[in-house]
Amino acid sequence: MTKIYNFSAGPAMLPAAVMQKAQAEFLDWQSMGRSVMEISHRSKEYIALAETAEQDLRDLLKVPDNYKVLFAQGGGRGQFSAVPMNLQLRADSADFLLSGSWSEGALKEASKFLKTNVVGEIIMQDGLSTVPSITASQVDQKSAYFHYCSNETVEGVEINDIPDSGDVPLVVDMSSNILSQPIDVSKFGVIYAGAQKNIGPSGLSVVIVRDDLLDFAMPETPTFLHYQTMANYGSMYNTPPTYSWYLAGLVFKWLKEQGGVETIAQTNAKKAALLYQCVDESDFYLNKVHPDFRSKMNVTFHLPNADFDAAFIKESEQAGLTALKGHRNVGGMRASIYNAMPIEGVHALTEFMQDFARRHK
Ligand SMILES: *Cc1c(COP(=O)(O)O)cnc(C)c1O
Repeated sequence: MTKIYNFSAGPAMLPAAVMQKAQAEFLDWQSMGRSVMEISHRSKEYIALAETAEQDLRDLLKVPDNYKVLFAQGGGRGQFSAVPMNLQLRADSADFLLSGSWSEGALKEASKFLKTNVVGEIIMQDGLSTVPSITASQVDQKSAYFHYCSNETVEGVEINDIPDSGDVPLVVDMSSNILSQPIDVSKFGVIYAGAQKNIGPSGLSVVIVRDDLLDFAMPETPTFLHYQTMANYGSMYNTPPTYSWYLAGLVFKWLKEQGGVETIAQTNAKKAALLYQCVDESDFYLNKVHPDFRSKMNVTFHLPNADFDAAFIKESEQAGLTALKGHRNVGGMRASIYNAMPIEGVHALTEFMQDFARRHK
């Protein structure tokens, strides 16, 4: 088998060491003669696993004590519904920054539950996507929350400066860049992330919610999405996705072994810089995002015209570089280089890109 580097946007690759550990104990976890997915979530062994995973995540992100960490079901989109339902009693409107497909998706779902205002929107300036910065005076200080997406997975747009929403709780969809760099959790009311980019298998989501926001759920909120209930039951009101939670726990341990979020952030910056440099130095590839907003997780680029796309996809697959096709809404290519992607994978990709450009000019 040739070495494969998987650039899938999600579900994305997991660290090889994590997969090997999971494989080694697949049939016999902790000498119990059973898989971890075959035991009760209420057993003392599983509770210990769950608590360790939560603590490791808290350590990695330095989550303050006045925040609950929930392991929820329903991925990122599950939280598109859960967030407005859980905060609706604060106020019946919410403010949004639109920076791409996922923040638009969050707005669309929220508009089922409350009024929505768009405070800022991504624009094209000199051919480059640019996101306006948000200050408190732009945000309706009476709204239930202010929502944005810190990394737009589809467009490859990352927002590094945390918007200033004044006293309005800041809610962020961090699905595709959580754990990629240090963050100041105390700036946020709710942080949520679907797992399948930087945490583990799909279906699971992580929600970090400030204690004072637990009591604003509309009465119709389904119980299993209700933050206060989830917190009361240690995220086990209903049976949690036990195997996904287990794998997430292995990923957190792996991240700690790498030196934590601070260290992985340096590697991530290096990986992204290599790839953007390759794009910028060629007159063949083009990235259309303003340098301040270029994603370090999802690098999007176009070839001189779409006629080259099929050959690029075919030849890159043959070279062991998989899943580089861009999202259908954007076209072109997208290389997703989350935490698990080793720098060797990025080197292999840039070498392929240089060679492809030479041959197809
Ligand atoms: C993948 C993704 C989602 C959707 O996650 P699902 O688990 O498919 O619901 C939401 N937001 C962002 C930023 C994503 O990258």
